[in-house]
Order: sequence, then structure tokens, then C-alpha cells
Amino acid sequence: PFKAIEKTGDDEAVDLSAYKNVWVFAEQRNGKLMNVALELIGEGYRLAKEISADTKICAVLIGDNIGHLADECYAYGAEEVILIEDPLLKNYTTDAYTKVLVDACHEYKPELVIYGATHIGRDLAPRVAARMNTGLTADCTRLDIKVSSYIEYADKNTTLDTSTLDPKDPSTGIKQTRPAFGGNLMATIICPKTRPQMSTVRPGVMQKRDKVEGAKGELTVYKPQIAESDIHVKIVDIVKSAKELVSLTDAEIICSGGRGLGDPSGFELIKKFADKVGGVVGSSRAAVDAGWIDHSHQVGQTGTTVKPKIYFACGISGAIQHLAGMQTSDIIVAINKDPDAPIFEVADFGIVGDLYKVIPQIIEEWDNA
Ligand code: FAD
Repeated sequence: PFKAIEKTGDDEAVDLSAYKNVWVFAEQRNGKLMNVALELIGEGYRLAKEISADTKICAVLIGDNIGHLADECYAYGAEEVILIEDPLLKNYTTDAYTKVLVDACHEYKPELVIYGATHIGRDLAPRVAARMNTGLTADCTRLDIKVSSYIEYADKNTTLDTSTLDPKDPSTGIKQTRPAFGGNLMATIICPKTRPQMSTVRPGVMQKRDKVEGAKGELTVYKPQIAESDIHVKIVDIVKSAKELVSLTDAEIICSGGRGLGDPSGFELIKKFADKVGGVVGSSRAAVDAGWIDHSHQVGQTGTTVKPKIYFACGISGAIQHLAGMQTSDIIVAINKDPDAPIFEVADFGIVGDLYKVIPQIIEEWDNA
């Protein structure tokens, strides 16, 4: 049942002094950490050190028999791992994960909790936030610890020197930025007066720290209070999709096709291209909407956010919603027959031409290289 949340008056004193440290929900599946967990440890480290030198970045591992993942968390920057293990946590269930994470938040009082905006993160974060009576900003692409005050936003005539604000002042919060109105503007959101502050962050947006093999940190083992009666769903079987599994977020090279392919058979050429360069097939939404390829390949605001070493955009115009999902790629190569296509504005290399002529030439050159 939902609990009504009492609205607090603006003047009400809120004691935030007990809240400290930055937590990352270190999502794992089948005993393997998700890439986004490592990205968020990197981002969390940066945020923690901006708050204060003694603010720690903690990775929260939930599952069963997953203690071995702690070393990977340390190697990517975690200073503490909070390990929550139980056979009932082996597979993700909303009830069980919410309960143990809420209990742990009450026990340790983190200042900030960040989750990957994955299917699991998007399911878990709002429930934890609701039970903690705190705010949540979903789908962030940027987090800034530089303290902002809600007053700054409530009254546009008020000019505040934000650098003088105290992060422990309840009227402040971190700046969380997320795309809004179809990606046409970036909204800056703060959740003052409540702690922990919570955000889900898109995969592929934040930077991992360089891996330090053998790095060590603190280990806190939290014994969860969880019983079968807490879990209202029963996982009978886990069936992998019969469809080809696409791992766009982890791919180093992505070859994406758009409406410029002309018809679905164009993806045969894109697949051949991707196989040749050791890449994964991506697509624009127009190609997905036309039914040429499955949505799991879609890159962009309503698809997957990617950050490969090389992104080939073939017959893709470069709409803002597509760019939102790929513009932080290390190298962008655009192939488009329209020299004025907006994709060329973000491309590092642009080839103006018919993709049906250009791609076979690249494949041939690749063979000769
Ligand atoms: P087009 O814009 O039609 O571009 C096709 C390009 O192919 C053109 O530039 C053309 O010059 C070129 N071309 C044609 N023939 C050839 C050829 N033979 N050789 C080379 N070039 C050729 N889009 C996404 O991609 N991802 C999203 O997640 C996404 N989310 C959205 C969310 C919302 C709320 C909205 C409103 C839209 C979203 N869109 C998204 C759609 C987006 O606005 C564009 O419509 C879409 O990205 C266009 O896809 P496209 O570039 O393949 O097609």
C-alpha cells in the first residue's frame, strides 16, 4: 500500500548531518558486473571527492555468492564495498532488492545513491526513493555536486552565489541534468530537503576510472533481513530471448544503419560491414519504426546510449534524439549522401556519398589493410 507523504514546510529544519558517502548500486547479472556499474563508480568517485576528501565512494553489491566482484569494484575506484548476500537475492526481484536496499539506507544513511538507468535500475530506484520519502531524478546525463539552492529556481529574480552554499544545508542539493521534452532541452533538477538524493544515470555516459589491478578497499558485510514472505513474485524460469542478443553498451565498434538504407535488406550490408570490422549492428529509430530491425538495436534517446571507440552512422541524418545516444563516442564516422546532413556536425570523419557504394569500398580496403 502507498503511504501518503506529508509535505514539509519550507522552514522546517531538516537534519542532514547523519548522511554521508556516495553509493553506487553495483548492478550484477549472473555474477558479472554491468559496465554501467563501473562507469558509475568512476562518476561517484568524482562526486564524492568534490563533496569532501573524507566522503567515500561505496559500491553496493546485492545478490548471492557475489563477493568475488568486490575486487573489480575496488579496481575501478570503490573505496568501500557493502556486500548484501542471501540465496533469496540470487535473481533480481523488485520486492527483495527494494527491501534490503531500503534497510541498508536506513542503517548507513548515504548522502547520494546512484543507479544505472537499466531495466533493473529504473525499476528499483523509484521504489527505494518512495519508501525513503526522498526525491529521484531519472535518466540523468550529468551530475554536478556544485551545490544549488532551490531558491535560485523558485524565484528567478534571486541571484545567489552558489559557491557559498553549504552542501549540508537542507535547502540545497546536487544538480542533476536530464533531457526533457523529447531531448529538446536539458532540465536541471535538485531534490532539496530530503536525503538520500537519488538518480538513475544512463549507461554509456559517465567515464570509468582507469583500472588499478590489486587495489583494495573496505568491506562491509550487511546481513539482510529477508524472508520468502517478503517476495510476492516467484521466478519459475529464466528464458533467454531467442532473438540475437545485442550488447550495444559494451561494443567497441558500432555500425548503425538508418532510413537511408532504403529497405530492410540494407541491414544485410550493415551486418556484413559490422562482421568485417568486429562491430555490432545499431540503428536509428526510423529503421526500427519501419520494422526493418528489432528495437534492441536502436541507438538514441528512446533506445540505448552508446560510447564505442568507433561509431559508423550510415544513412542516418543526425536528429537530436539519435545524437543524444551516440555523440560521446570516441570517433564518429558518418556516411551520408546529403552534405548538409546534421550528422556531419558531430562527425570526426564524414564521407559524402551513397552508402551502397561507400561501405563495399571500406570492406574491400579493410581486407587489403
Ligand atoms: P532520416 O532522418 O530520414 O535520415 C535518413 C538519412 O539518410 C538522410 O540524411 C539522407 O540524406 C540519408 N540517405 C538516404 N539515402 C542514402 C544513401 N543511399 N546513402 C547515404 N545516405 C543516404 N531517433 C533515433 O534514432 N533514436 C531514438 O532513440 C529516437 N528517439 C526519439 C524520441 C522522440 C520523443 C522523438 C520525437 C523522436 C525520436 N527519434 C529517435 C526519431 C528522430 O527524431 C529521427 O526521426 C530519426 O532519428 C531519423 O532516423 P534516420 O536518421 O534514420 O532517418
